[in-house]
Amino acid sequence: MPRIHRLSTRLANQIAAGEVVERPASVVKEILENSLDAGATRIDIDVEAGGVQLIRVRDNGQGMEPDDLPLALARHATSKIRSLEDLEQVGSLGFRGEALASIGSVSRLTLTTNHREDSSEGCSALCEGRDMQVEVRPAPHPRGTTVEVRDLFFNTPARRKFLRTEKTEFGHLEEVVKRLALSRFEVGFTLRHNGRVVHALKPALDEVQARRRVAAVCGPAFMEQSIHLDSERTDLRLWGWVGLPTFSRSQADSQYFFVNGRVIRDKLIAHAVKQAYRDVLYHGRHPAFVLFLELDPAQVDVNVHPGKHEVRFRDSRAVHQCVFGTLHRALAEVRPETAAPPVRTAEGLAVDTETGEVARQPGLSWGAPPAPGPAAYRPSPVPAPGLALEQVRSYAGLHPPAAGLPEQAAPEEVPPLGYALAQLKGIYILAENAHGLVLVDMHAAHERITYERLKASRASEGVRSQPLLVPQAMAVSQREVRLASDHAALFSDLGLVLEVAGEESLMIRQVPVALRDADIPALVRDVLADLAEYGSSDRIEAHLDEILSTMACHGSVRANRRLTVPEMNALLRDMEATERAGQCNHGRPTWTQLGLEDLDRLFLRGR
Ligand code: ADP
Ligand code: MG
Repeated sequence: MPRIHRLSTRLANQIAAGEVVERPASVVKEILENSLDAGATRIDIDVEAGGVQLIRVRDNGQGMEPDDLPLALARHATSKIRSLEDLEQVGSLGFRGEALASIGSVSRLTLTTNHREDSSEGCSALCEGRDMQVEVRPAPHPRGTTVEVRDLFFNTPARRKFLRTEKTEFGHLEEVVKRLALSRFEVGFTLRHNGRVVHALKPALDEVQARRRVAAVCGPAFMEQSIHLDSERTDLRLWGWVGLPTFSRSQADSQYFFVNGRVIRDKLIAHAVKQAYRDVLYHGRHPAFVLFLELDPAQVDVNVHPGKHEVRFRDSRAVHQCVFGTLHRALAEVRPETAAPPVRTAEGLAVDTETGEVARQPGLSWGAPPAPGPAAYRPSPVPAPGLALEQVRSYAGLHPPAAGLPEQAAPEEVPPLGYALAQLKGIYILAENAHGLVLVDMHAAHERITYERLKASRASEGVRSQPLLVPQAMAVSQREVRLASDHAALFSDLGLVLEVAGEESLMIRQVPVALRDADIPALVRDVLADLAEYGSSDRIEAHLDEILSTMACHGSVRANRRLTVPEMNALLRDMEATERAGQCNHGRPTWTQLGLEDLDRLFLRGR
């Protein structure tokens, strides 16, 4: 029988390193967090061979006393917390006191530091994967600290085998630097790889500079096509930028979320964001965002994971509600008058023509008689939901001419989508606004307007629901029974009446008419799972919306219908008054704009 013995310090540290030091990127994360905790305002990062050969980070933070150097390299030694109370409201990024010890146990680590402003005499310590016998010697260094990590995993071949190519490792490392650069606008960062400058980010001290930094990290297209938001509730503040739905990505790779300045990947947040974009994003696409959540540190538990990229919220429902609510509102406001016109990005928008509803038959509409048949666009007699009445009235004074802008129109009198000029191939409306030419996909636009109207009437009239002839029993867990009765109102508001039939069974008594053919027990189960995990669920609504969306699609004006100029103008006005009018129900853009400058460029015309 094997006897129990104590692990050597070195082995214990190497085991801890297994959790904290996965690859060069995780080393950089820990070292940068230390620099930020030390109050640095400038951080220079030099990397060689993807970080495997060398990572050197130099900061101008507060530095360390010579006597503290051996402790900095020891496990379970930290300057950041002293007691359990401190742990319950951590203000620093680090607090576990194990990063340097872990990194030092799997690399050749040199720490050089100086804590004095008035002298350049610092000290240095080297630790080479051995037991923590560190020797401190004098070394020149300005105030601040330099950490040098060479030959990562030189003594742990198993770990080394998991490393990818230099390019991939550097990619991960760069991502870490980008995330931390977004978390602290006031700190300057430079990142060099094999001697080449990859990022040089000056401290961003005002709004303009902050926008510049976001553009440098997320690309200028994101900055141009995102909405800025800032919402404060009693004890939660959420601010940042969210990409317009038309600026979506094929990967979830442009998503940055920070909680009290800490980079976080969180399922609850991801769910809230996804739910907010549900109605406006092209299927399978991912939104881009940079969001900062600020709340009382006592409301967040950061001691969940050694890598500290997960947190637990004390009131997770409130956080979910705040993120979902703020984004949902911001996205609903995206209408022609607020939004920059959707521009196709270099990446392009994956438009799947198979799901496109418009049958494109070029030429067929030419010469077709102007037939305002049943599916032709009818100007809406009543204002659309969320209609800005004042706005519509002020435009009403301006009489649109036969086509295009009235000659005497002042730019501020021209509605955002302008006035119709003509119809192209029975598919597009061409219109003139103050900037130039507007192109509208008439089916996509009408579909969104109809859909929003159907949703609004459901909201005002309620969901039509009918009792089941034979109530349906379903077996569930005790916890699910509790969730179902706690959230009975959520179900019944959407037309689903459930009853507790026993300790482990529910009875479905009434279902929404629109969902009578759906698999209701499966839906109920999914909703209960959401409620358990996130404290909220929009699944029933999503199902109901899907049906409305299909209805809207079939009820909308088809291609190859001739619209008269007044009909087209009415459609443009309705778009301006409709929430989420920038995308059709499938997340495709409904309109775009070619300004005079764009047209001039096309014709090489200097102005
Ligand atoms: P933690 O950050 O959890 O405290 P670390 O192992 O990362 O643990 O660092 C140990 C200690 O070393 C820190 O608490 C801090 O006092 C000191 N330290 C590390 N890096 C720096 C730095 N760049 N500047 C000043 N002090 C540092
Ligand atoms: Mg640390």
